[in-house]
Amino acid sequence: MLKGKTALVTGSTSGIGLGIAKSLAAQGANIIVNGFGDSKTPQDELAALGVKVAYHGADMSKPADIEDMMKFAASKFGRVDILVNNAGIQHVSNIEDFPPERWDAIIAINLSSAFHTTRLAIPAMREANWGRVLNIASAHGLVASAGKSAYVAAKHGIVGMTKAVALETATTGVTCNAICPGWVLTPLVQKQIDDRSAREGITVEQAQKDLLGEKQPSLQFTTVDQLGGLAAFLCSPAADQVRGVAWQMDGGWTAQ
Ligand code: NAD
Repeated sequence: MLKGKTALVTGSTSGIGLGIAKSLAAQGANIIVNGFGDSKTPQDELAALGVKVAYHGADMSKPADIEDMMKFAASKFGRVDILVNNAGIQHVSNIEDFPPERWDAIIAINLSSAFHTTRLAIPAMREANWGRVLNIASAHGLVASAGKSAYVAAKHGIVGMTKAVALETATTGVTCNAICPGWVLTPLVQKQIDDRSAREGITVEQAQKDLLGEKQPSLQFTTVDQLGGLAAFLCSPAADQVRGVAWQMDGGWTAQ
C-alpha cells in the first residue's frame, strides 16, 4: 500500500516510533530512522522487511540539526511523504520545582521540533498533492495530570498545531492528524514505573498496576503494534478525509 513512499519517523530508535516505523515498513514504505542510542538494530529490523532504510541522528532540540535531516531525507529518497513527529521526553515534578531547562527541552523536543519538520516537509507534499503528517501527542494532549506541566503544555500544543495544519492543507491530498496514546510500556514509561516503585517502596509489578489503575480503565497497556496499525490506517486512502483529529488509543483514559 505504501510502496514507493518514504516515511521519516523522529525518535524511531525505540518504543512507539520504532513500532510505527515497522508498521509503515510492513506496508512497503522506505524509512528514515532518527533518535539516540543503538540505531543499527532498528535499521536492521526495518531493512529485514524489504524496504530501504537510512538513519539521521539529528537532535530534535536543535533546529539546525532538523534542517540538515530534512535535506538529507530529500537527497536520499526524493521527499518525505509521511512525517511522523514522535520524538519526546518527559520530566515529572510540580511547577515550582520544575527545572527551567527541562521545560525548555520538553517544549523544544515534544513541540517545536514538529513545527520545524512540518514546515520543511509540507512544500514537497503539496507539490505531490499527497502527504501524511502524524503527530504523536498523548492522552495528555487532551487532559492533564499533576506534575507534568511542560509535557501537558507541549502535547496540548501539538494537538492545536495539528488542527491548524489540517485546515491549511484541507483542500489538498495532504492530511495532518494526531494520535493520543494512553500508557504504553516503553522506556519512557518504565522510568516512571521504576521511580514510583522506589518512591513508594512497592514492587515494580505493583507500581505498574497502580499506574494503570489510576488512569487507564482497560487496565492494559496500549501496544506499539496497535499504534502502528492506527498509523497505517491514517496513511491509507480510507483516511483521506480524516483531518485534524486527535485520535485516542488510551484504553478509555479520556472517556472518564
Ligand atoms: P521512548 O523513550 O521509548 O522513545 C523516545 C524516542 O525519542 C527515542 O528514539 C529517543 O532516542 C528519541 N529522542 C529523545 N530525545 C530526542 C532528541 N532530542 N532528538 C532526537 N530523538 C530523541 O519513548 P516512547 O514512549 O516511545 O515515546 C514516543 C512518543 O510517544 C513521545 O512523544 C511520547 O511523549 C509519546 N507518548 C508516549 C506514551 C507512553 O505511554 N509511552 C504515551 C503517550 C504518548
